[in-house]
Amino acid sequence: MIDLVCGARPNFMKIDPLVRAAGFPFRIVHTGQHYDHSMSGSFFDQLGLPRPDVFLGCGGGSVTLQTARIMEAYEPVLIRGAPEAVVVVGDVNSTLACSLTAARHGVPVIHLEAGLRSFDRTMPEEVNRVLTDQLSDLLLITSPEARDNLLAEGLPADAVVMTGNTMIDTLLRLLPETDGIEVPEKPYGLVTLHRPGNVDHGERLSEILSALGRLDMPLVFPAHPRTLRSISECGLAGAVPENLRMLAPFSYLEFVAHERSASVVITDSGGVQEETSVLGVPCVTVRPNTERPITCLLGTNVLCPDPRGIPDAVEERLSRARVGPVEIPFWDGKAGVRAVEAVSEFMRRGGKR
Ligand code: UDP
Repeated sequence: MIDLVCGARPNFMKIDPLVRAAGFPFRIVHTGQHYDHSMSGSFFDQLGLPRPDVFLGCGGGSVTLQTARIMEAYEPVLIRGAPEAVVVVGDVNSTLACSLTAARHGVPVIHLEAGLRSFDRTMPEEVNRVLTDQLSDLLLITSPEARDNLLAEGLPADAVVMTGNTMIDTLLRLLPETDGIEVPEKPYGLVTLHRPGNVDHGERLSEILSALGRLDMPLVFPAHPRTLRSISECGLAGAVPENLRMLAPFSYLEFVAHERSASVVITDSGGVQEETSVLGVPCVTVRPNTERPITCLLGTNVLCPDPRGIPDAVEERLSRARVGPVEIPFWDGKAGVRAVEAVSEFMRRGGKR
């Protein structure tokens, strides 16, 4: 039996293709990092994911406290269940916490979406990525530069397998189900922002809001709970510009419907950089770096480090001919099947690096 760990919104889209393809017995362990319906439950419903076998209930708290709480809650579950391996996905606190717990007990760790690097250790996600990869026995990668990053950090080449992007499997599977979902009339922009570097400090957040207000189109902003909290705590409710419609987080199908039809997407999300690339939708990423350079190289993404540059970056993206859906190698809807094959082969070899 293998534990499949998930905890936060992007994880659900990444494990779903594994669950669908799995030829081995598994348990879904949900850490509870995201727990309310709009950030968790609705995804299980729309993706058709089975309910978690184990729910650890570790929501809230600082990055450090949350990581510690998940480890504390997962340890007895791991000991009791005695899985033969633990699969973790992405770069959230649950990813690191469960990898470390498994490694401490000698249980092999498999990291799906290994080797992505922003080279920016001020991002909690980057620390989670680097440490999880060091603890992992099997490293499943989504794009070629991930292999170089892992080898440069001393990880063995034979532990790295290119299986592709399972988040895109989910996108391609459910895209037809977004037909008919009502979206605004074009032109409109879709905004998602939740990285601590953008939303935790009033000055930066205020600069972003004011730059969005200078765009000459309506913007839809299904805001992450962290962002809504920060707008209120920083006293910025009055600084939300008129063209920006702040809403609660969208369900997956609602989000993808808005994403595929948007004139432009303005984001700091990792997954949204990938999805817009595949959909061929212009994307402006409000960050100085990306752990997903392939989205700038082959996709439709451009980085915008300074929020004051957002209007120019949007104009530049819109002035380009629209590319239409982009094909990125291994982002083809079959990554889940390849990941399951890699996991099965690894287990046949005895589950060791
Ligand atoms: N997403 C969603 N509703 C929203 C915003 C995003 O369903 O209101 C989806 C989006 O389609 C993508 C994933 O959530 O599949 C991205 O998650 P998030 O931005 O929270 O995390 P990141 O990718 O930055 O780790």
